[in-house]
Amino acid sequence: MKKAIGSHLARSAVYALLAICALVTGCYQDTRLSVDKNGKTVVERYGRLQVKGTQLLNEAGKPVQLRGISSFALQYGAKYANETVIGWLRDDWNIQVWRAALELLDGGYIIRPALKTAVIDSVDAAIKLGIYVIVDWHVHQDANPQRYEAQAAEFFDEMSKTYGEYPNVIYEICNEPNGDDVTWDEVVKPYAEHIISVIRANDPDNIIIVGTPRWSQMVDVASANPITGYSNIMYTLHFYAGSHGESLREQARTAIKNGLPLFVTECGTSKASGGEGVYEAEFLEWASLLQENNISWVNWSLTNKGEDSGILILNADREGKGHWTENQLSQSGKFIRSILRNETKIK
Ligand code: MG
Repeated sequence: MKKAIGSHLARSAVYALLAICALVTGCYQDTRLSVDKNGKTVVERYGRLQVKGTQLLNEAGKPVQLRGISSFALQYGAKYANETVIGWLRDDWNIQVWRAALELLDGGYIIRPALKTAVIDSVDAAIKLGIYVIVDWHVHQDANPQRYEAQAAEFFDEMSKTYGEYPNVIYEICNEPNGDDVTWDEVVKPYAEHIISVIRANDPDNIIIVGTPRWSQMVDVASANPITGYSNIMYTLHFYAGSHGESLREQARTAIKNGLPLFVTECGTSKASGGEGVYEAEFLEWASLLQENNISWVNWSLTNKGEDSGILILNADREGKGHWTENQLSQSGKFIRSILRNETKIK
């Protein structure tokens, strides 16, 4: 009997040790892999995402951080919204999330509704590949989200009816509200409450991400008056490492302290213009804050137009075939790829 108790204790000690190892190593590896060593995709492992407090959690209730790449505005970038390219990004770049940026103006969805196909192709590819996908209503220019609220309601009604049952799908309902009159309390929040109610009528649970005023920077203001009455709502913060530093990080910390769950659906290594250099050290400062708080992030963007924030060099992969060689990648592309592949260590 004594011996049995002894061996039971020894076994318990081994299990405890294994659990600690899993927490220290396995958990880290599992958290940032598009496909794990057993061939399980991120969606197979995490399942239906949920939000508790400031944290994005997997179905089992463990905090997770997703990292990935955004399309460029789809009226220019649709050629990459296919299973081959997104699959390449999953397997070579280790992305766990793809963002389909459906821009409204500048030749976008409002005058070319057929662009919706590029969103549908993105979502179908993500479902096949077992990664998450952000359906981004890319309010960007003339950016009062209420201006196209009726179109947004119609679009998200259809998307949530079609895709609400898939754990892969995340809705982003207004990319970057901006303008002096576009306040949180009077414009963005009421808009968001309407669109959330439309989505929730079809889909009770998938994550919905809400933009914040001033190009999705005023998360601190949103945190003083968050949306209530719905679950699985997050808020977006956008940054460009060459333009936004410590003062915007301070706004993020305020929002987190106030309990606001953040998801960085767009961030770049360049200035906010998309150009004027690649700011690696400043980007790593941000990456560190995001990792420390388990905040998911998506890099802007997959484009070959030659801007500094784009991951490809000018005119690389004109046809959208993926399988890029090192010399087709821009400085930013090489840098972001090495972070996503867990080769560049985040402090
Ligand atoms: Mg659902």
